Amino acid sequence: MNAIDAGRVADLHLHTYFSDGTYSPEELVAQAECQALHALALTDHDTVEGCLPTAKACQTAGIEFIAGTELTAEQDGHEIHILGYLIDLQNPKFLKEIGKFQSVRQNRIREIVQRLNELNVPLQAEEVFALANCRAPGRPHVARALVQAGLVGSLDEAFERFLKKNRPAWVPKFKMSASEATDLIHQSGGVAVMAHPGLNRSDEVIPAMVESGLDGIECFHTKHSTAVSEHYLQIAERFHLLVTGGSDCHGLSKGRPLIGSVRLPYEHVEKLHARAAERKAAAVRHFSA
Ligand code: AMP
Ligand code: ZN
Ligand code: FE
Ligand code: FE
Repeated sequence: MNAIDAGRVADLHLHTYFSDGTYSPEELVAQAECQALHALALTDHDTVEGCLPTAKACQTAGIEFIAGTELTAEQDGHEIHILGYLIDLQNPKFLKEIGKFQSVRQNRIREIVQRLNELNVPLQAEEVFALANCRAPGRPHVARALVQAGLVGSLDEAFERFLKKNRPAWVPKFKMSASEATDLIHQSGGVAVMAHPGLNRSDEVIPAMVESGLDGIECFHTKHSTAVSEHYLQIAERFHLLVTGGSDCHGLSKGRPLIGSVRLPYEHVEKLHARAAERKAAAVRHFSA
């Protein structure tokens, strides 16, 4: 790290209202300015729709923007979230594939609502879609719609009574495999990073994911204690993985905004760029052949 980089920090895990966050791109970037972030990455679930407006707002604010997404995948029965960074936003295969997962999400909302109706909870899918107003709706939108309709008292109550895994309105989500997610990110010139490994504590899947080409691991996350971050820094070293970190801010949907609460030293962003350059060169060689 050189002297100029000493104070530069990034937050590489952020959501907007293009998935289940509450902030618009402009609001998110305004918060990033307050936090004096040098760089930020947008990682909305299964979509990159928010990337262009966020890039524009970042340009105005003088903040470096990193295009990203968070894909939900599966490895050996474990749900794994995979962050894709510095992907080509125009890549047709990438857009087509994530489009399928957006449809999966929309159909799942209909199924969740159907189960709620069977439980005599009179919510309509259209209410959820209107509230979500995005292509990648999820359970948090159902929870908000339930609160808005006065059918539950809080978001927590919605998850506890209905939406959590194995609760009566829970519907499993069809997921791609971790290696499919990694390949999809690579073929669009991006870098694949395992998100918040400390949340799932499924370390046993890491070697297989490394074998599939995983590039990095999110060592720093709001829900990682110092000891947990340290543990994953050691894993990163053992498997030669890039180190990333981010707050996983969803705006105000989870209390106070988390943006900037994880401050990743900029040297890690430089390494991310270097890997992306390698991945882009490889994508041109392998995937356009
Ligand atoms: P989905 O992608 O539709 O399965 O929804 C996942 C989102 O729901 C993530 O952003 C989680 O943070 C949120 N979530 C999952 N479980 C809970 C819970 N028990 N309480 C509040 N939010 C939750
Ligand atoms: Zn989310
Ligand atoms: Fe996640
Ligand atoms: Fe996230």
